Amino acid sequence: MLQVSTRPALREALNAARAAGKRIGFVPTMGNLHGGHISLVSAAQESCDFVVCSIFVNPTQFGMNEDIDNYPRTLDADKALLDESGVDLLFTPSVHDMYSDLELTWVEVNGITERHCGASRPNHFRGVATVVCKFLNLVQPDRAYFGRKDYQQLAVIQRMVEDLFIPCEIIGVPTARAPDGLALSSRNGYLTPEERVVAPQLHACLQEAKARIAAGVTDYSALTAWAKSQLEAGPWRLDYFTVCRQADLAPADPEDRNLVILAAAWLGRARLIDNITLSR
Ligand code: AMP
Repeated sequence: MLQVSTRPALREALNAARAAGKRIGFVPTMGNLHGGHISLVSAAQESCDFVVCSIFVNPTQFGMNEDIDNYPRTLDADKALLDESGVDLLFTPSVHDMYSDLELTWVEVNGITERHCGASRPNHFRGVATVVCKFLNLVQPDRAYFGRKDYQQLAVIQRMVEDLFIPCEIIGVPTARAPDGLALSSRNGYLTPEERVVAPQLHACLQEAKARIAAGVTDYSALTAWAKSQLEAGPWRLDYFTVCRQADLAPADPEDRNLVILAAAWLGRARLIDNITLSR
């Protein structure tokens, strides 16, 4: 696996791949890689000939009160894992490579960014959309792969690519989970052993809510209240648990058919997110 850390070196490596007629797949990450990231790599390898992965802890998507300095950085282990997984090119730019001191341009996707994680994390999605737009312009992949675990993020990126005519196909990859149902996440590393034991409750609550909707429940605010009482009876602090329409992530009405339940909750230091889709 070739590793490059500057934009000119990236361009050179990509020119060679493109000249050889390779179909380029791109997997952007913030590192501290786990099975979820590797499932994106595997999906990319299935339909592309040259897989590029980036590791960049993007400062503009962290809020003032969010601890970017303590975000887990495990580059050596990440490199070994990507190499073993058969990634062709790793791009590890510095902040200086990705942002100028005079940064004046931001990519803002309105509407779908205002609720859920966007409400709890002001400017988070502006940072995500801006850095992903920059990466897509630098790598110019045929396809880019994102996890469905970050359902709202995937929706934001899909919207941005459509609205800005970015010539790249966005692929959503199913959530990779631990055997007990917990969605794999770099933030799981913040959990104490005791918290790790209760962490699968978030997914279990989503599954139970899905089963209740499948059984005919349409009072979604009662369902939210039920989930809150379940979780907050234990060590959780709920941020949101909302039955939404898949199309625009607005709160669902009883007549909506294609639904996603989005959830975020704090467990100790970790803010965990998860979701489940259903059609009725
Ligand atoms: P991150 O490094 O957390 O920014 O995540 C990089 C990419 O991996 C994003 O597209 C995430 O949605 C995706 N991802 C993270 N966790 C999982 C998971 N458990 N299953 C599938 N994709 C994931």
